Amino acid sequence: MSLLRVTPKRRYLVRFDPKRIPHLFTDVLVIGAGVAGLRAALAVDPSLNVVVATKSRVDLSNSSWAQGGIAGVFDPVDDFAHHAADTIVAGKGMCHPTVVNMVVQEAPQRIRELIGMGANFDLEGGDIALTQEGGHSHRRIVHALGDATGKEIMRAMIATARNSPQIEIWDNTFTIDLLTHEGECRGALVWNPEHGKTFVWAKQTILATGGAGRLFRETTNPAIATADGQAMAFRAGAFVRDMEFMQFHPTVLYIAGSSRHLISEAVRGEGGVLRDCHGYRFMQDYSPQLELAPRDEVSRAITRQMEKTRHHCVYLDVTHLDRQLIADRFPHISKVCRDFGLDLTRDQIPVRPGAHYMIGGVTVDAQGQTSVPRLWAAGEATSTGLHGANRLASNSLLEGLVFGLRAGQQASDMALAEPDRFSALPLESPPAAENNANDDAINLDDVINSLSSEMWRDCGIERDAHGLESALGRVEFWDRYVGPVEFNQIKGWELQNMLLVSQLIIRAAMMRTETRGVHTRSDFPATDPGQASHINLQVDWSEPARAE
Ligand SMILES: Cc1cc2nc3c(=O)[nH]c(=O)nc-3n(C[C@H](O)[C@H](O)[C@H](O)COP(=O)(O)OP(=O)(O)OC[C@H]3O[C@@H](n4cnc5c(N)ncnc54)[C@H](O)[C@@H]3O)c2cc1C
Repeated sequence: MSLLRVTPKRRYLVRFDPKRIPHLFTDVLVIGAGVAGLRAALAVDPSLNVVVATKSRVDLSNSSWAQGGIAGVFDPVDDFAHHAADTIVAGKGMCHPTVVNMVVQEAPQRIRELIGMGANFDLEGGDIALTQEGGHSHRRIVHALGDATGKEIMRAMIATARNSPQIEIWDNTFTIDLLTHEGECRGALVWNPEHGKTFVWAKQTILATGGAGRLFRETTNPAIATADGQAMAFRAGAFVRDMEFMQFHPTVLYIAGSSRHLISEAVRGEGGVLRDCHGYRFMQDYSPQLELAPRDEVSRAITRQMEKTRHHCVYLDVTHLDRQLIADRFPHISKVCRDFGLDLTRDQIPVRPGAHYMIGGVTVDAQGQTSVPRLWAAGEATSTGLHGANRLASNSLLEGLVFGLRAGQQASDMALAEPDRFSALPLESPPAAENNANDDAINLDDVINSLSSEMWRDCGIERDAHGLESALGRVEFWDRYVGPVEFNQIKGWELQNMLLVSQLIIRAAMMRTETRGVHTRSDFPATDPGQASHINLQVDWSEPARAE
Protein backbone atom coordinates (compact mmCIF):
# COMPACT_ATOMS: atom_id res chain seq x y z
CA MET A 1 0.00 0.00 0.00
CA SER A 2 1.37 3.40 -0.91
CA LEU A 3 0.34 6.79 0.40
CA LEU A 4 0.48 10.02 -1.56
CA ARG A 5 -0.13 13.30 0.24
CA VAL A 6 -1.45 16.27 -1.71
CA THR A 7 -2.17 19.83 -0.58
CA PRO A 8 -5.24 21.46 -2.14
CA LYS A 9 -5.31 25.21 -2.51
CA ARG A 10 -7.86 25.63 0.26
CA ARG A 11 -10.09 23.73 2.72
CA TYR A 12 -13.36 25.49 1.74
CA LEU A 13 -13.91 26.88 -1.75
CA VAL A 14 -15.80 29.91 -0.45
CA ARG A 15 -15.78 32.05 2.65
CA PHE A 16 -18.82 32.05 4.88
CA ASP A 17 -20.13 34.00 7.81
CA PRO A 18 -22.42 31.66 9.81
CA LYS A 19 -24.39 34.70 11.05
CA ARG A 20 -25.40 35.60 7.52
CA ILE A 21 -26.17 32.20 6.01
CA PRO A 22 -29.47 30.33 6.52
CA HIS A 23 -29.17 27.10 8.52
CA LEU A 24 -31.25 24.00 7.95
CA PHE A 25 -31.27 20.82 10.05
CA THR A 26 -31.95 17.31 8.82
CA ASP A 27 -31.32 13.77 10.03
CA VAL A 28 -29.66 12.48 6.88
CA LEU A 29 -28.26 14.49 3.99
CA VAL A 30 -27.73 12.62 0.73
CA ILE A 31 -25.64 14.42 -1.89
CA GLY A 32 -26.52 13.09 -5.34
CA ALA A 33 -29.70 11.65 -6.80
CA GLY A 34 -28.39 8.87 -9.03
CA VAL A 35 -28.92 5.19 -8.37
CA ALA A 36 -26.65 5.24 -5.29
CA GLY A 37 -28.06 8.40 -3.70
CA LEU A 38 -31.70 7.44 -4.18
CA ARG A 39 -31.16 3.87 -3.00
CA ALA A 40 -29.51 5.30 0.11
CA ALA A 41 -32.35 7.78 0.71
CA LEU A 42 -34.95 5.03 0.31
CA ALA A 43 -33.14 2.90 2.93
CA VAL A 44 -33.47 5.52 5.66
CA ASP A 45 -36.05 4.86 8.34
CA PRO A 46 -39.34 6.65 7.47
CA SER A 47 -39.37 8.34 10.89
CA LEU A 48 -36.30 10.36 9.90
CA ASN A 49 -36.03 13.38 7.67
CA VAL A 50 -33.88 13.02 4.52
CA VAL A 51 -32.70 15.78 2.19
CA VAL A 52 -31.41 14.72 -1.22
CA ALA A 53 -29.43 17.51 -2.90
CA THR A 54 -28.64 17.24 -6.59
CA LYS A 55 -26.83 19.88 -8.57
CA SER A 56 -28.92 19.53 -11.69
CA ARG A 57 -32.30 18.13 -12.61
CA VAL A 58 -33.02 14.99 -10.68
CA ASP A 59 -33.17 12.94 -13.88
CA LEU A 60 -29.76 14.04 -15.13
CA SER A 61 -27.07 11.65 -13.93
CA ASN A 62 -24.82 8.90 -15.18
CA SER A 63 -27.46 6.54 -13.82
CA SER A 64 -30.16 7.94 -16.11
CA TRP A 65 -27.82 7.56 -19.07
CA ALA A 66 -26.94 3.92 -18.37
CA GLN A 67 -27.81 1.74 -21.31
CA GLY A 68 -26.72 -1.89 -21.21
CA GLY A 69 -28.14 -3.03 -17.90
CA ILE A 70 -27.46 -4.48 -14.49
CA ALA A 71 -25.55 -7.68 -13.87
CA GLY A 72 -27.20 -10.36 -11.73
CA VAL A 73 -27.43 -14.15 -11.69
CA PHE A 74 -30.89 -15.26 -12.85
CA ASP A 75 -30.05 -17.97 -15.39
CA PRO A 76 -30.07 -21.49 -13.85
CA VAL A 77 -26.88 -22.41 -15.73
CA ASP A 78 -25.10 -19.42 -14.18
CA ASP A 79 -24.15 -19.03 -10.52
CA PHE A 80 -22.67 -16.53 -8.07
CA ALA A 81 -19.25 -18.13 -8.33
CA HIS A 82 -19.16 -17.41 -12.08
CA HIS A 83 -20.21 -13.80 -11.62
CA ALA A 84 -17.59 -13.37 -8.88
CA ALA A 85 -14.89 -15.07 -10.94
CA ASP A 86 -15.59 -12.87 -13.99
CA THR A 87 -15.44 -9.75 -11.80
CA ILE A 88 -12.16 -10.83 -10.26
CA VAL A 89 -10.57 -11.76 -13.61
CA ALA A 90 -11.44 -8.29 -14.98
CA GLY A 91 -10.09 -6.61 -11.81
CA LYS A 92 -6.54 -7.85 -12.47
CA GLY A 93 -5.49 -8.78 -8.95
CA MET A 94 -6.97 -5.74 -7.22
CA CYS A 95 -10.53 -6.82 -6.29
CA HIS A 96 -11.46 -7.48 -2.69
CA PRO A 97 -12.98 -11.00 -2.89
CA THR A 98 -15.25 -10.53 0.14
CA VAL A 99 -16.75 -7.39 -1.37
CA VAL A 100 -17.13 -9.11 -4.75
CA ASN A 101 -18.95 -12.08 -3.19
CA MET A 102 -21.20 -9.82 -1.14
CA VAL A 103 -22.18 -7.71 -4.15
CA VAL A 104 -22.85 -10.56 -6.60
CA GLN A 105 -24.90 -12.46 -4.01
CA GLU A 106 -27.07 -9.44 -3.30
CA ALA A 107 -27.62 -8.66 -7.00
CA PRO A 108 -30.84 -10.63 -7.66
CA GLN A 109 -32.49 -9.19 -4.55
CA ARG A 110 -31.50 -5.60 -5.36
CA ILE A 111 -32.85 -6.05 -8.91
CA ARG A 112 -36.13 -7.53 -7.63
CA GLU A 113 -36.47 -4.50 -5.34
CA LEU A 114 -36.35 -2.29 -8.43
CA ILE A 115 -39.16 -4.36 -9.93
CA GLY A 116 -41.04 -3.77 -6.67
CA MET A 117 -40.57 -0.03 -7.18
CA GLY A 118 -42.16 -0.34 -10.60
CA ALA A 119 -39.16 -0.73 -12.93
CA ASN A 120 -40.16 -2.68 -16.03
CA PHE A 121 -37.31 -4.85 -17.22
CA ASP A 122 -37.44 -6.42 -20.67
CA LEU A 123 -38.96 -9.90 -20.66
CA GLU A 124 -38.55 -12.98 -22.80
CA GLY A 125 -41.25 -15.64 -22.59
CA GLY A 126 -42.48 -14.09 -19.32
CA ASP A 127 -39.04 -14.27 -17.65
CA ILE A 128 -36.49 -11.49 -17.22
CA ALA A 129 -34.58 -11.25 -20.52
CA LEU A 130 -30.81 -11.62 -20.14
CA THR A 131 -28.00 -10.57 -22.42
CA GLN A 132 -24.23 -10.97 -22.29
CA GLU A 133 -21.55 -8.30 -22.25
CA GLY A 134 -17.75 -8.23 -22.53
CA GLY A 135 -15.93 -10.15 -19.79
CA HIS A 136 -19.08 -12.01 -18.62
CA SER A 137 -19.01 -15.79 -19.06
CA HIS A 138 -22.83 -16.05 -19.01
CA ARG A 139 -25.93 -14.16 -20.05
CA ARG A 140 -26.69 -12.18 -16.89
CA ILE A 141 -27.40 -8.59 -17.90
CA VAL A 142 -30.91 -7.47 -17.03
CA HIS A 143 -32.05 -4.57 -19.24
CA ALA A 144 -35.00 -2.25 -19.80
CA LEU A 145 -36.50 -0.33 -22.75
CA GLY A 146 -34.04 -2.22 -24.96
CA ASP A 147 -31.02 -0.03 -24.38
CA ALA A 148 -32.24 2.61 -21.92
CA THR A 149 -32.01 0.69 -18.66
CA GLY A 150 -30.91 3.69 -16.60
CA LYS A 151 -33.82 5.81 -17.76
CA GLU A 152 -36.33 3.19 -16.67
CA ILE A 153 -34.81 2.33 -13.29
CA MET A 154 -34.36 6.01 -12.44
CA ARG A 155 -37.97 6.71 -13.44
CA ALA A 156 -39.10 4.09 -10.95
CA MET A 157 -36.70 5.18 -8.19
CA ILE A 158 -37.48 8.89 -8.56
CA ALA A 159 -41.22 8.16 -8.41
CA THR A 160 -40.74 6.02 -5.30
CA ALA A 161 -38.62 8.71 -3.62
CA ARG A 162 -41.16 11.40 -4.52
CA ASN A 163 -43.88 9.30 -2.91
CA SER A 164 -41.91 8.95 0.32
CA PRO A 165 -42.99 11.78 2.64
CA GLN A 166 -39.73 11.71 4.62
CA ILE A 167 -37.61 12.42 1.51
CA GLU A 168 -37.23 15.95 0.14
CA ILE A 169 -35.46 16.23 -3.21
CA TRP A 170 -33.73 19.56 -3.79
CA ASP A 171 -32.75 19.83 -7.41
CA ASN A 172 -30.44 22.51 -8.80
CA THR A 173 -28.71 22.56 -5.43
CA PHE A 174 -24.94 22.45 -5.72
CA THR A 175 -22.91 21.17 -2.79
CA ILE A 176 -19.82 23.33 -2.47
CA ASP A 177 -18.16 21.63 0.49
CA LEU A 178 -18.67 19.18 3.32
CA LEU A 179 -18.72 20.80 6.76
CA THR A 180 -16.35 19.29 9.28
CA HIS A 181 -16.02 19.99 12.98
CA GLU A 182 -13.25 18.30 14.98
CA GLY A 183 -12.67 15.91 12.09
CA GLU A 184 -16.30 14.74 11.83
CA CYS A 185 -18.68 15.50 8.97
CA ARG A 186 -21.63 17.59 10.08
CA GLY A 187 -23.41 18.28 6.80
CA ALA A 188 -22.64 20.50 3.84
CA LEU A 189 -22.57 24.00 2.48
CA VAL A 190 -24.91 24.08 -0.51
CA TRP A 191 -25.93 26.72 -3.03
CA ASN A 192 -28.95 27.16 -5.20
CA PRO A 193 -30.03 30.06 -7.37
CA GLU A 194 -33.07 30.90 -5.23
CA HIS A 195 -31.60 30.75 -1.74
CA GLY A 196 -27.89 31.29 -2.30
CA LYS A 197 -25.62 29.59 0.22
CA THR A 198 -27.20 27.44 2.96
CA PHE A 199 -25.70 25.36 5.72
CA VAL A 200 -27.37 21.95 5.84
CA TRP A 201 -26.54 20.41 9.20
CA ALA A 202 -27.02 16.63 9.21
CA LYS A 203 -26.53 13.91 11.78
CA GLN A 204 -25.19 11.71 8.98
CA THR A 205 -24.15 12.60 5.43
CA ILE A 206 -24.03 10.29 2.42
CA LEU A 207 -21.95 11.26 -0.59
CA ALA A 208 -23.21 9.84 -3.91
CA THR A 209 -22.00 12.38 -6.45
CA GLY A 210 -20.95 10.01 -9.23
CA GLY A 211 -18.02 10.11 -11.61
CA ALA A 212 -15.34 12.22 -13.25
CA GLY A 213 -15.65 11.63 -17.00
CA ARG A 214 -15.74 15.35 -17.75
CA LEU A 215 -12.08 15.63 -16.83
CA PHE A 216 -11.37 14.10 -20.25
CA ARG A 217 -12.10 15.61 -23.65
CA GLU A 218 -13.71 12.44 -24.99
CA THR A 219 -16.27 11.07 -22.58
CA THR A 220 -19.61 9.33 -22.41
CA ASN A 221 -20.55 11.15 -19.19
CA PRO A 222 -23.13 13.92 -18.87
CA ALA A 223 -22.15 17.41 -17.73
CA ILE A 224 -22.66 16.63 -14.02
CA ALA A 225 -19.64 14.28 -13.90
CA THR A 226 -17.02 16.78 -12.71
CA ALA A 227 -15.62 14.85 -9.72
CA ASP A 228 -17.08 17.24 -7.13
CA GLY A 229 -17.62 14.50 -4.56
CA GLN A 230 -14.09 13.14 -4.72
CA ALA A 231 -12.72 16.69 -4.41
CA MET A 232 -14.91 17.80 -1.51
CA ALA A 233 -14.35 14.57 0.42
CA PHE A 234 -10.61 14.89 -0.11
CA ARG A 235 -10.62 18.48 1.18
CA ALA A 236 -12.64 17.29 4.18
CA GLY A 237 -9.92 14.75 5.03
CA ALA A 238 -11.32 11.51 3.57
CA PHE A 239 -8.99 8.92 2.11
CA VAL A 240 -9.26 8.50 -1.64
CA ARG A 241 -7.66 5.66 -3.60
CA ASP A 242 -7.06 4.03 -7.00
CA MET A 243 -7.44 7.35 -8.83
CA GLU A 244 -5.21 6.16 -11.69
CA PHE A 245 -7.93 3.71 -12.74
CA MET A 246 -10.23 5.56 -15.17
CA GLN A 247 -12.06 3.17 -17.43
CA PHE A 248 -12.34 4.13 -21.08
CA HIS A 249 -15.29 2.78 -22.99
CA PRO A 250 -14.13 1.34 -26.29
CA THR A 251 -17.08 2.27 -28.45
CA VAL A 252 -18.26 5.87 -28.33
CA LEU A 253 -20.02 7.31 -31.36
CA TYR A 254 -17.55 9.50 -33.21
CA ILE A 255 -19.33 11.86 -35.56
CA ALA A 256 -18.40 15.52 -35.69
CA GLY A 257 -21.21 17.53 -34.14
CA SER A 258 -22.84 14.65 -32.29
CA SER A 259 -22.60 14.25 -28.52
CA ARG A 260 -20.20 11.47 -27.62
CA HIS A 261 -22.90 8.87 -27.39
CA LEU A 262 -22.04 5.50 -25.94
CA ILE A 263 -22.59 2.48 -28.15
CA SER A 264 -23.29 -0.14 -25.54
CA GLU A 265 -21.24 -3.27 -25.02
CA ALA A 266 -24.48 -5.15 -25.58
CA VAL A 267 -24.19 -4.36 -29.31
CA ARG A 268 -21.06 -6.50 -29.35
CA GLY A 269 -22.77 -8.96 -27.01
CA GLU A 270 -25.47 -9.49 -29.63
CA GLY A 271 -22.86 -10.12 -32.35
CA GLY A 272 -21.61 -6.69 -33.51
CA VAL A 273 -18.02 -6.81 -34.81
CA LEU A 274 -15.25 -4.18 -34.97
CA ARG A 275 -13.57 -3.40 -38.26
CA ASP A 276 -10.86 -0.93 -39.18
CA CYS A 277 -11.17 1.55 -42.04
CA HIS A 278 -10.14 -1.20 -44.48
CA GLY A 279 -12.94 -3.50 -43.32
CA TYR A 280 -10.52 -5.79 -41.42
CA ARG A 281 -11.87 -7.47 -38.23
CA PHE A 282 -8.81 -6.56 -36.17
CA MET A 283 -9.77 -7.88 -32.70
CA GLN A 284 -8.48 -11.31 -33.78
CA ASP A 285 -4.97 -9.79 -33.62
CA TYR A 286 -5.41 -8.66 -30.01
CA SER A 287 -7.53 -11.07 -27.97
CA PRO A 288 -8.92 -14.61 -28.24
CA GLN A 289 -12.16 -13.21 -26.80
CA LEU A 290 -12.40 -10.94 -29.85
CA GLU A 291 -14.97 -8.15 -29.41
CA LEU A 292 -16.02 -9.51 -26.01
CA ALA A 293 -12.61 -9.03 -24.41
CA PRO A 294 -12.60 -6.77 -21.29
CA ARG A 295 -12.99 -3.08 -22.03
CA ASP A 296 -9.37 -2.08 -21.40
CA GLU A 297 -8.17 -4.60 -23.98
CA VAL A 298 -10.71 -3.49 -26.56
CA SER A 299 -9.95 0.22 -25.93
CA ARG A 300 -6.22 -0.35 -26.35
CA ALA A 301 -6.74 -2.49 -29.44
CA ILE A 302 -8.88 0.22 -31.04
CA THR A 303 -6.32 2.93 -30.22
CA ARG A 304 -3.51 0.87 -31.69
CA GLN A 305 -5.49 -0.02 -34.81
CA MET A 306 -6.34 3.66 -35.30
CA GLU A 307 -2.62 4.45 -35.07
CA LYS A 308 -1.74 1.59 -37.44
CA THR A 309 -4.25 2.66 -40.05
CA ARG A 310 -3.78 6.39 -39.34
CA HIS A 311 -7.53 6.74 -39.28
CA HIS A 312 -9.51 8.76 -36.73
CA CYS A 313 -11.87 5.93 -35.74
CA VAL A 314 -12.83 2.30 -36.24
CA TYR A 315 -16.26 0.91 -37.18
CA LEU A 316 -18.80 -1.20 -35.36
CA ASP A 317 -20.58 -3.43 -37.84
CA VAL A 318 -24.04 -4.86 -37.14
CA THR A 319 -25.18 -5.04 -40.74
CA HIS A 320 -25.14 -8.87 -40.63
CA LEU A 321 -27.56 -9.02 -37.67
CA ASP A 322 -31.28 -9.54 -37.94
CA ARG A 323 -33.10 -6.24 -38.65
CA GLN A 324 -35.76 -6.95 -36.06
CA LEU A 325 -33.17 -7.75 -33.39
CA ILE A 326 -31.48 -4.39 -33.99
CA ALA A 327 -34.80 -2.56 -33.82
CA ASP A 328 -35.93 -4.37 -30.64
CA ARG A 329 -32.66 -4.38 -28.71
CA PHE A 330 -31.20 -1.03 -29.71
CA PRO A 331 -34.03 1.40 -30.39
CA HIS A 332 -32.19 4.28 -28.74
CA ILE A 333 -28.84 3.78 -30.46
CA SER A 334 -30.64 3.20 -33.80
CA LYS A 335 -32.43 6.53 -33.40
CA VAL A 336 -29.26 8.48 -32.49
CA CYS A 337 -27.49 7.02 -35.53
CA ARG A 338 -30.51 7.72 -37.75
CA ASP A 339 -30.41 11.37 -36.65
CA PHE A 340 -26.92 11.51 -38.20
CA GLY A 341 -27.94 9.73 -41.38
CA LEU A 342 -26.73 6.24 -40.44
CA ASP A 343 -28.95 3.20 -40.97
CA LEU A 344 -27.60 0.39 -38.78
CA THR A 345 -28.91 -2.30 -41.06
CA ARG A 346 -26.73 -0.89 -43.88
CA ASP A 347 -24.07 1.41 -42.42
CA GLN A 348 -21.20 0.80 -40.02
CA ILE A 349 -21.00 2.95 -36.89
CA PRO A 350 -17.87 5.15 -36.49
CA VAL A 351 -16.56 4.70 -32.94
CA ARG A 352 -13.53 5.39 -30.76
CA PRO A 353 -12.87 5.16 -27.02
CA GLY A 354 -13.88 7.77 -24.42
CA ALA A 355 -13.55 8.20 -20.64
CA HIS A 356 -16.44 6.32 -19.12
CA TYR A 357 -16.22 5.17 -15.52
CA MET A 358 -14.12 6.36 -12.57
CA ILE A 359 -13.03 3.23 -10.76
CA GLY A 360 -11.11 5.07 -8.05
CA GLY A 361 -12.72 7.34 -5.50
CA VAL A 362 -13.50 7.89 -1.86
CA THR A 363 -12.36 4.86 0.13
CA VAL A 364 -15.23 3.06 1.86
CA ASP A 365 -15.57 -0.16 3.81
CA ALA A 366 -18.17 -2.87 3.15
CA GLN A 367 -20.86 -0.72 4.82
CA GLY A 368 -20.06 2.42 2.82
CA GLN A 369 -18.26 4.16 5.68
CA THR A 370 -15.51 6.61 4.73
CA SER A 371 -12.50 7.48 6.88
CA VAL A 372 -14.32 10.61 8.13
CA PRO A 373 -16.79 9.89 10.94
CA ARG A 374 -20.46 10.56 10.03
CA LEU A 375 -19.61 10.54 6.31
CA TRP A 376 -20.80 7.62 4.17
CA ALA A 377 -20.41 7.22 0.44
CA ALA A 378 -21.76 5.02 -2.35
CA GLY A 379 -21.69 4.61 -6.11
CA GLU A 380 -19.20 5.84 -8.67
CA ALA A 381 -17.75 8.46 -6.30
CA THR A 382 -16.26 5.64 -4.21
CA SER A 383 -13.68 2.91 -4.23
CA THR A 384 -15.26 -0.16 -2.62
CA GLY A 385 -12.86 -2.87 -3.77
CA LEU A 386 -15.44 -4.37 -6.16
CA HIS A 387 -13.90 -3.39 -9.48
CA GLY A 388 -10.19 -3.75 -8.77
CA ALA A 389 -8.19 -2.34 -11.66
CA ASN A 390 -10.98 -2.74 -14.22
CA ARG A 391 -14.75 -2.70 -13.89
CA LEU A 392 -16.73 -5.54 -15.39
CA ALA A 393 -19.57 -4.20 -17.54
CA SER A 394 -22.90 -3.62 -15.76
CA ASN A 395 -21.42 -4.08 -12.29
CA SER A 396 -21.64 -0.38 -11.45
CA LEU A 397 -25.39 0.19 -11.24
CA LEU A 398 -25.33 -2.92 -9.09
CA GLU A 399 -22.58 -1.51 -6.87
CA GLY A 400 -24.61 1.71 -6.46
CA LEU A 401 -27.65 -0.28 -5.36
CA VAL A 402 -25.76 -2.53 -2.93
CA PHE A 403 -23.66 0.20 -1.31
CA GLY A 404 -26.43 2.80 -1.49
CA LEU A 405 -28.65 0.50 0.53
CA ARG A 406 -25.91 -0.29 3.04
CA ALA A 407 -24.80 3.32 3.50
CA GLY A 408 -28.44 4.39 3.85
CA GLN A 409 -29.17 1.72 6.46
CA GLN A 410 -26.05 2.48 8.48
CA ALA A 411 -26.57 6.24 8.38
CA SER A 412 -30.18 5.68 9.36
CA ASP A 413 -29.28 3.50 12.36
CA MET A 414 -26.75 6.06 13.58
CA ALA A 415 -29.15 8.97 13.09
CA LEU A 416 -31.92 7.12 14.93
CA ALA A 417 -29.60 6.69 17.92
CA GLU A 418 -28.80 10.40 18.09
CA PRO A 419 -31.04 13.05 19.69
CA ASP A 420 -32.00 16.16 17.74
CA ARG A 421 -29.68 19.12 18.16
CA PHE A 422 -30.64 22.37 16.49
CA SER A 423 -27.55 24.48 16.89
CA ALA A 424 -24.75 25.32 14.55
CA LEU A 425 -21.24 24.15 15.42
CA PRO A 426 -18.27 26.49 15.28
CA LEU A 427 -16.48 26.07 11.96
CA GLU A 428 -13.18 27.43 10.87
CA SER A 429 -14.18 30.08 8.37
CA PRO A 430 -11.62 30.27 5.59
CA PRO A 431 -9.60 33.47 5.44
CA ALA A 432 -10.01 35.88 2.52
CA ALA A 433 -8.80 34.35 -0.71
CA GLU A 434 -5.29 35.49 -1.66
CA ASN A 435 -6.33 36.27 -5.16
CA ASN A 436 -9.85 37.51 -5.19
CA ALA A 437 -10.09 38.04 -8.93
CA ASN A 438 -13.69 38.28 -10.01
CA ASP A 439 -15.23 35.55 -12.09
CA ASP A 440 -14.79 37.53 -15.30
CA ALA A 441 -11.00 37.63 -14.98
CA ILE A 442 -10.72 33.96 -16.01
CA ASN A 443 -12.26 32.41 -19.08
CA LEU A 444 -13.52 29.27 -17.37
CA ASP A 445 -14.57 27.48 -20.57
CA ASP A 446 -11.11 27.97 -21.96
CA VAL A 447 -9.41 26.45 -18.90
CA ILE A 448 -11.92 23.57 -18.81
CA ASN A 449 -11.27 22.80 -22.49
CA SER A 450 -7.51 23.01 -22.01
CA LEU A 451 -7.68 20.78 -18.95
CA SER A 452 -9.82 18.09 -20.55
CA SER A 453 -7.64 18.11 -23.70
CA GLU A 454 -4.50 17.79 -21.59
CA MET A 455 -5.96 14.93 -19.55
CA TRP A 456 -7.06 13.15 -22.73
CA ARG A 457 -3.68 13.58 -24.42
CA ASP A 458 -1.28 12.81 -21.57
CA CYS A 459 -3.31 10.92 -18.97
CA GLY A 460 -5.66 9.01 -21.29
CA ILE A 461 -5.70 5.45 -22.58
CA GLU A 462 -1.89 5.12 -22.81
CA ARG A 463 0.37 7.02 -20.44
CA ASP A 464 4.10 7.48 -19.95
CA ALA A 465 6.33 9.33 -17.49
CA HIS A 466 7.08 12.18 -19.87
CA GLY A 467 3.42 12.85 -20.70
CA LEU A 468 2.34 12.57 -17.06
CA GLU A 469 5.02 15.02 -15.93
CA SER A 470 3.97 17.51 -18.53
CA ALA A 471 0.28 17.03 -17.59
CA LEU A 472 1.07 17.62 -13.91
CA GLY A 473 3.06 20.74 -14.72
CA ARG A 474 0.23 22.24 -16.74
CA VAL A 475 -2.52 21.33 -14.29
CA GLU A 476 -0.53 22.73 -11.36
CA PHE A 477 0.07 25.90 -13.35
CA TRP A 478 -3.67 26.39 -13.98
CA ASP A 479 -4.46 25.55 -10.37
CA ARG A 480 -2.00 28.19 -9.14
CA TYR A 481 -4.22 30.97 -10.47
CA VAL A 482 -7.65 29.27 -10.52
CA GLY A 483 -7.38 27.53 -7.12
CA PRO A 484 -7.18 30.61 -4.88
CA VAL A 485 -10.01 32.53 -6.59
CA GLU A 486 -13.32 32.76 -4.76
CA PHE A 487 -15.98 32.05 -7.36
CA ASN A 488 -19.66 32.82 -7.14
CA GLN A 489 -20.76 30.33 -9.74
CA ILE A 490 -21.00 26.60 -10.23
CA LYS A 491 -18.66 26.46 -13.21
CA GLY A 492 -15.85 28.00 -11.13
CA TRP A 493 -16.33 25.53 -8.25
CA GLU A 494 -16.51 22.64 -10.70
CA LEU A 495 -13.27 23.74 -12.35
CA GLN A 496 -11.55 23.94 -8.97
CA ASN A 497 -12.75 20.41 -8.20
CA MET A 498 -11.63 19.17 -11.62
CA LEU A 499 -8.16 20.68 -11.18
CA LEU A 500 -7.74 19.05 -7.77
CA VAL A 501 -8.96 15.62 -8.89
CA SER A 502 -6.87 15.77 -12.08
CA GLN A 503 -3.80 16.20 -9.89
CA LEU A 504 -4.81 13.18 -7.80
CA ILE A 505 -5.26 11.10 -10.96
CA ILE A 506 -1.96 12.19 -12.51
CA ARG A 507 0.05 11.71 -9.33
CA ALA A 508 -1.36 8.22 -8.80
CA ALA A 509 -0.74 7.38 -12.47
CA MET A 510 2.88 8.50 -12.09
CA MET A 511 3.33 6.34 -9.02
CA ARG A 512 1.92 3.19 -10.64
CA THR A 513 4.90 2.21 -12.78
CA GLU A 514 3.27 -0.81 -14.39
CA THR A 515 0.37 -1.64 -16.69
CA ARG A 516 -2.62 -3.05 -14.86
CA GLY A 517 -6.29 -3.15 -15.83
CA VAL A 518 -7.35 0.17 -17.29
CA HIS A 519 -4.04 1.86 -16.39
CA THR A 520 -1.70 1.41 -19.36
CA ARG A 521 1.87 2.72 -19.15
CA SER A 522 3.60 2.48 -22.51
CA ASP A 523 6.94 2.87 -20.66
CA PHE A 524 6.03 0.03 -18.25
CA PRO A 525 4.02 -2.37 -20.43
CA ALA A 526 4.23 -5.33 -18.02
CA THR A 527 2.16 -5.97 -14.92
CA ASP A 528 4.34 -5.99 -11.83
CA PRO A 529 3.08 -8.48 -9.21
CA GLY A 530 4.74 -6.31 -6.55
CA GLN A 531 2.34 -3.46 -7.28
CA ALA A 532 -0.96 -5.27 -6.75
CA SER A 533 -2.02 -2.89 -4.01
CA HIS A 534 -3.85 0.41 -3.58
CA ILE A 535 -2.40 3.86 -3.99
CA ASN A 536 -4.05 5.88 -1.22
CA LEU A 537 -4.26 9.64 -1.29
CA GLN A 538 -4.71 11.89 1.68
CA VAL A 539 -4.87 15.61 2.17
CA ASP A 540 -1.77 17.28 3.58
CA TRP A 541 -2.33 20.52 5.47
CA SER A 542 1.17 20.55 6.91
CA GLU A 543 2.38 23.30 4.57
CA PRO A 544 1.07 26.31 6.48
CA ALA A 545 1.29 28.70 3.55
CA ARG A 546 -1.23 26.65 1.57
CA ALA A 547 -3.32 25.19 4.38
CA GLU A 548 -6.20 27.62 4.18
C1 LIG B 1 -23.58 6.52 -21.09
C2 LIG B 1 -23.39 5.62 -19.91
C3 LIG B 1 -23.84 4.30 -19.96
C4 LIG B 1 -23.67 3.46 -18.85
N1 LIG B 1 -24.18 2.20 -18.91
C5 LIG B 1 -24.10 1.42 -17.79
C6 LIG B 1 -24.73 0.13 -17.76
O1 LIG B 1 -25.36 -0.30 -18.72
N2 LIG B 1 -24.61 -0.60 -16.62
C7 LIG B 1 -23.93 -0.18 -15.51
O2 LIG B 1 -23.87 -0.89 -14.51
N3 LIG B 1 -23.35 1.05 -15.52
C8 LIG B 1 -23.43 1.85 -16.61
N4 LIG B 1 -22.85 3.08 -16.61
C9 LIG B 1 -22.19 3.54 -15.37
C10 LIG B 1 -23.27 3.88 -14.37
O3 LIG B 1 -24.33 4.54 -15.01
C11 LIG B 1 -22.74 4.75 -13.26
O4 LIG B 1 -21.55 4.26 -12.76
C12 LIG B 1 -23.73 4.85 -12.12
O5 LIG B 1 -24.99 5.19 -12.62
C13 LIG B 1 -23.28 5.88 -11.10
O6 LIG B 1 -24.33 6.11 -10.21
P1 LIG B 1 -24.12 7.16 -9.03
O7 LIG B 1 -25.41 7.21 -8.31
O8 LIG B 1 -22.91 6.84 -8.28
O9 LIG B 1 -23.83 8.55 -9.79
P2 LIG B 1 -24.74 9.36 -10.81
O10 LIG B 1 -25.83 8.56 -11.34
O11 LIG B 1 -23.84 10.02 -11.78
O12 LIG B 1 -25.39 10.48 -9.88
C14 LIG B 1 -24.61 11.51 -9.35
C15 LIG B 1 -25.52 12.52 -8.70
O13 LIG B 1 -24.74 13.43 -7.95
C16 LIG B 1 -25.13 14.75 -8.24
N5 LIG B 1 -24.00 15.65 -7.98
C17 LIG B 1 -22.74 15.60 -8.48
N6 LIG B 1 -22.00 16.61 -7.96
C18 LIG B 1 -22.81 17.30 -7.13
C19 LIG B 1 -22.64 18.44 -6.32
N7 LIG B 1 -21.49 19.13 -6.26
N8 LIG B 1 -23.69 18.89 -5.61
C20 LIG B 1 -24.90 18.25 -5.65
N9 LIG B 1 -25.11 17.15 -6.42
C21 LIG B 1 -24.08 16.69 -7.13
C22 LIG B 1 -25.57 14.70 -9.67
O14 LIG B 1 -26.38 15.82 -9.97
C23 LIG B 1 -26.32 13.36 -9.68
O15 LIG B 1 -27.61 13.54 -9.15
C24 LIG B 1 -23.01 3.94 -17.69
C25 LIG B 1 -22.55 5.25 -17.65
C26 LIG B 1 -22.75 6.10 -18.74
C27 LIG B 1 -22.26 7.51 -18.67
